[in-house]
Amino acid sequence: MRIIVHSAKCQGHARCWAQAPKIFKLNDEGYILPGEISVEERDELLASRGARSCPERALEIDCPSDALLDRLLFNQHCRG
Ligand code: SF4
Repeated sequence: MRIIVHSAKCQGHARCWAQAPKIFKLNDEGYILPGEISVEERDELLASRGARSCPERALEIDCPSDALLDRLLFNQHCRG
């Protein structure tokens, strides 16, 4: 799956980083780096926790590789 970063929404809470520091990279001021994050299948659960912990909804989860995981974790449909 991938995570689309909406960096303009980031307020530097670092909650994503606290959940998964290897996945969510912050700059020196604690704001998420811009761009998309590709997540390997083995890291999807951790990454989804981090993304959903963002109070600003700055981290958009896109297309988990496993449809069941999608349904269980996100309760949403993949946009394909
Ligand atoms: S949790 Fe959200 S607001 Fe906080 S650093 Fe991460 S992306 Fe930014």
